[in-house]
Amino acid sequence: MIQSKSKTKKYFLKLFFLALIIVLIRGIIFSWGSWVSSPLVSIDYNTHAFIIKESYKRLEKDSAFRKDVFPLLGAILLFEGITENLTGSGPDAILNSVSSDHYYNPKTKEGDAPKQTSFFFSQLKDSIENKWTQVLPGKSAAYLAHYIADMSVPFHILGLSTQGQDTENFINSITDAKGRVLLNEKIQGNNAPFLGNNWSKELQKWGEAHKEHSKYVNWFDPWYYDDWSSALSTHIDWERTVNHVSSASPNEYSPVYISLLKKKNPNGSQEIIKGMTKERAHFTRNN
Ligand SMILES: [Zn+2]
Repeated sequence: MIQSKSKTKKYFLKLFFLALIIVLIRGIIFSWGSWVSSPLVSIDYNTHAFIIKESYKRLEKDSAFRKDVFPLLGAILLFEGITENLTGSGPDAILNSVSSDHYYNPKTKEGDAPKQTSFFFSQLKDSIENKWTQVLPGKSAAYLAHYIADMSVPFHILGLSTQGQDTENFINSITDAKGRVLLNEKIQGNNAPFLGNNWSKELQKWGEAHKEHSKYVNWFDPWYYDDWSSALSTHIDWERTVNHVSSASPNEYSPVYISLLKKKNPNGSQEIIKGMTKERAHFTRNN
């Protein structure tokens, strides 16, 4: 009896991801954001919350889903979203994570998003199975969903890690003798305005942010600093152009997940989630 109950729990935990991935694979998201509102216009920019709601709707339709055990939608949404001044309980709030958690560059294999999804998956599973009250399952589900979703944003699969260097060392490590920062295609992506783009201005801006929040700002995403204010950068501008459209009801699970399951990974579901996160980053990079 106990064993079959725990099997059921494991099954519907998987379903949560599947539902989430279906939403992503269907390509309904044109842009991203976690802002609850803009300082200028009251619009819901919280695409992460939109994805959670869409995934939850699909999950509820599955016969294996148990509402009495899985965190309620409201409990998950409590841990998503930030305000204009970057506060809140979602992972985008400045003290709730470090920038590398939101990135994975499949060309260089740098970035911690796969590690984070695997961590929050296992925390979600444990917190439900062992009825932990100190670790909120809603938070684990929200953070897990957030980091997987980030992998569908073209600007979250580019850039490079600071490797823990201080501001000056990192700046020097990617600046050439002529003072130029010529990032290669692996770092800047293949849609840079022109080849040989000099990113030194962006790197200087990154340096100011790094000096202020050295622990948090441990990743250089050139597209985040390409305007006088990060709020107007190419990265944020893309995320702001939100188009929240529900897809038609999907009737199948993510092919990426299915193929990883078939590989029978000896390290179990945590490795599958890690693999799925990487696969999603590859998919975004190649499309
Ligand atoms: Zn993020």
